[in-house]
Amino acid sequence: MIKKKLPKELRVCAEKCGAVCCKYVTVKIDAPRTNCDFDEIRWFVSHEGVTVIIESRLWYVQFDTRCKFLDGSNLCSNYENRFDVCREYGMDNCEASDGEPPVVFRTMEEFDEFLEKRKQKRKKRAARRSKRKKASEVTK
Ligand code: SF4
Ligand code: SF4
Repeated sequence: MIKKKLPKELRVCAEKCGAVCCKYVTVKIDAPRTNCDFDEIRWFVSHEGVTVIIESRLWYVQFDTRCKFLDGSNLCSNYENRFDVCREYGMDNCEASDGEPPVVFRTMEEFDEFLEKRKQKRKKRAARRSKRKKASEVTK
């Protein structure tokens, strides 16, 4: 009976998605640049239920933790007075939408693999740049 009263959007959130976005909090962090920053990311992801993600080039630490207002049916028991961040988060830009999925680091190994790939990519890019520079010097 309750199901009939729910707006379609909420039914999808509760039943199809399982209210995923009500089961974690994220905190924005600066993109890591130094060895000390990299070590901090490794430290974050060494904790149970903590991941680091990159979404739209922005970095976040994510803590898996269920909101206290989420009831046993995956519905918000505080819907009318929910937080601004909950209001701003629409189904058109949430993780259940078709947008580009975030990069997720769950372990140190995943993060180190990402760093290594990025290093290789940067090396190749630098090599291409220097090749182009040399070629343009020859033609001068
Ligand atoms: S807004 Fe998106 S991620 Fe959140 S519960 Fe609804 S469908 Fe799931
Ligand atoms: S307040 Fe409601 S909508 Fe916001 S995270 Fe908690 S359960 Fe989800």
